[in-house]
Amino acid sequence: MRFETLAVHTGGEPDAETGAIAPPIHLSSTFRHSPDGVHPGELLYQREDNPTQRRLEAALAALEGGARALFYGSGLAACSAALHAYWREDARLVMQNDCYAGFQAQVRHYAQRWGWRVDAVDLADPEAARTALARPATLVWAETPSNPLLRIVDLAALSELAHAAGARLLVDGTFATPALQQPLALGADSVLHSATKYMGGHSDVLGGVLVFAEDGAAARNAFYARELVGLAASPFAAWLVLRGLRSLAPRMRAHCQGARAVARFLAQRPEVEAVHYPGLPEAAGHALAGRQMSDFGGMLSFTLRGGREAALAVAGALVLFVNATSLGGCESLVEHRRSVEGAHPRSPENLLRLSIGLEHPDDLVADLAQALERAR
Ligand code: PLP
Repeated sequence: MRFETLAVHTGGEPDAETGAIAPPIHLSSTFRHSPDGVHPGELLYQREDNPTQRRLEAALAALEGGARALFYGSGLAACSAALHAYWREDARLVMQNDCYAGFQAQVRHYAQRWGWRVDAVDLADPEAARTALARPATLVWAETPSNPLLRIVDLAALSELAHAAGARLLVDGTFATPALQQPLALGADSVLHSATKYMGGHSDVLGGVLVFAEDGAAARNAFYARELVGLAASPFAAWLVLRGLRSLAPRMRAHCQGARAVARFLAQRPEVEAVHYPGLPEAAGHALAGRQMSDFGGMLSFTLRGGREAALAVAGALVLFVNATSLGGCESLVEHRRSVEGAHPRSPENLLRLSIGLEHPDDLVADLAQALERAR
């Protein structure tokens, strides 16, 4: 079955009790024990498992081609579960240097305090990846396309390097979603998503996803992280993300179409220094993204010749684009990433990140045109 069809149907069996087509939301925190006091394979307590989340996890495993999917209270909760899943004494983490700032902070606050050795390298540079993985490692953490520079990592090549170094490869595929990129088919061991973004799709739910290629020790540990560290989501969040999955494929097509139009427009503006969008033929990762992804995604960033002041002025002059963090919703967002990166900023001062929503691309281009004029 094709992705679009799976996305509409998996985990969507009509409710056995009522025949309802939309799945019920089971909010019960606890489930009745069987008369003999055990519950083999059955439900016990919401934090471990619940019927609404089961439907979502069945859909996620099918959409990623994985053996086991787990849903968490946020994308960062899924990151934390992954660190627990792969934890080992004397662990070495090789991570993408351009990746979600919140995960970098989580690594500083936890993984490094737990004694993990951490090397942050540009995994989009094959030579840097090869050098970093010439030594044994425990976990390789790739984000592609990356946040906020839209770097593209060669997942098939990286999975070989990671495995040769004795490591597991986890891919944060939040920007691409399974509609555009299938990391497990390229050799990754697990995939992570902030479901808060495109999966939910409407800027109204927090959630995180881990999908494992094998239902083995790492998946079990990730499940325990939900049960014992308590990283659980609410059933209502699971329900909203499941609903979002139904329309993920056509929404992604529209996000990609809009981003392509905006990137092309920005690339020919004199005020713009550089556009980071893998869909542009001149982009560094264009050919690789063309092989590894079915389209180039709805995220892009660009730098302005006028520096920080120009970037802030453009963000402030936009009308349709809302100046806010996050991504993947129906409405287009703009963000000066540097301003929200706290004590360890990495983004250039003159960079703006755009999440292209579902508005007509012509209106988005017109909004950017007037903002660039006003900010001169
Ligand atoms: N991964 C990426 C690539 C993200 O952009 C984000 C959030 O922006 C996260 C993970 C964390 O997700 P959440 O905000 O749902 O905790």
